[in-house]
Amino acid sequence: MKLVSVVVPCYNEQEVLPMFYEEITKVTGKMSVDFPELEFEYLFINDGSKDNTLPILRSLADKDKRVRYISFSRNFGKESGMYAGLKNAKGDYVVVMDADLQHPPSFLPQMYSYVRDGEFDCATTRRVNRKGESKIRSWFAMKFYKIMNKISQTEIVDGAQDFRFMTRQMVDAILDMSEYNRFSKGIFSWVGFRTRYLPYENVERPAGTTSWSFWGLFKYSLEGIMAFSTAPLAISSLLGIISCIIAFILMIITVIKTIAFGEDVAGYPTTICVIFLLSGLQLFCTGILGQYLAKTYLETKKRPIYIAQETEEIYRARKQKAEEKASGEDTSDSEK
Ligand code: UDP
Ligand code: MG
Repeated sequence: MKLVSVVVPCYNEQEVLPMFYEEITKVTGKMSVDFPELEFEYLFINDGSKDNTLPILRSLADKDKRVRYISFSRNFGKESGMYAGLKNAKGDYVVVMDADLQHPPSFLPQMYSYVRDGEFDCATTRRVNRKGESKIRSWFAMKFYKIMNKISQTEIVDGAQDFRFMTRQMVDAILDMSEYNRFSKGIFSWVGFRTRYLPYENVERPAGTTSWSFWGLFKYSLEGIMAFSTAPLAISSLLGIISCIIAFILMIITVIKTIAFGEDVAGYPTTICVIFLLSGLQLFCTGILGQYLAKTYLETKKRPIYIAQETEEIYRARKQKAEEKASGEDTSDSEK
């Protein structure tokens, strides 16, 4: 038998979780018939949700033995959630998907068929359009992929998603990248392996809201650039060189003007302009340097990527203990 672990990061997903569970069990139930060699486990990661996500997960764990969960001590972000899921998944294959049904479970059989024969190590979906998304957002996304692929050796495929069906080998390779600043789109691509992209039309969330603001996405894209490219550092040196050259040319022009034509140089305005320009450039470049330094600082601290507060094992053990205690009290009552 082969075990498939379905890893689902959840943050405030009380509205969609029951729907998701229903959908996924429908699909996996059908898959167990079509591919009798498959068994499933569902590993939900509760990323510090503030709503009823955890109680829902507990009740799912009550009624279905295949449901496992890890509940974080606070919100660590989706990247940490995916890492925790991959780390704790026991399967021969691991699926990562969102809880909001934007990653339709109906893709799973097709994905498995590509990975099963060893032809591919990973099957994933790729958005062919960005329907339902604002124009500005799409424009920024397009630019991001363009810039990213220009300045980084790691190819980031436009429209590729975190909906993946992977082999154990690939999962272990991803887990070996234990970096703190995680940018999964880059990590999935950096580890290599043969990936099959399935075209997919964007689906809207049936309920709940996205936790990504425009600003959040913008910061995330900068994280991605810094995690997988050092080009900004090179750009800052380049800017320095260019401004040196300009300064040098200006110097020569000034000298020639004064010596050859005897012209007076207007000192004050030119000086102010140059001071502004150069100090601006310097601050900009120091800022870039500082960003990389900050990332290095966080990496060297070796902080945990996530902190688990409760898992289904702890929950079940606690529940069993409570039940035993209750039944113990019952029998002692009846003995009296
Ligand atoms: N998510 C998470 N932690 C977070 C934010 C999001 O685990 O801090 C989960 C969320 O529950 C969902 C997935 O990541 O399953 C994708 O989030 P969302 O739908 O908000 O993003 P979008 O689909 O808009 O990119
Ligand atoms: Mg979503």
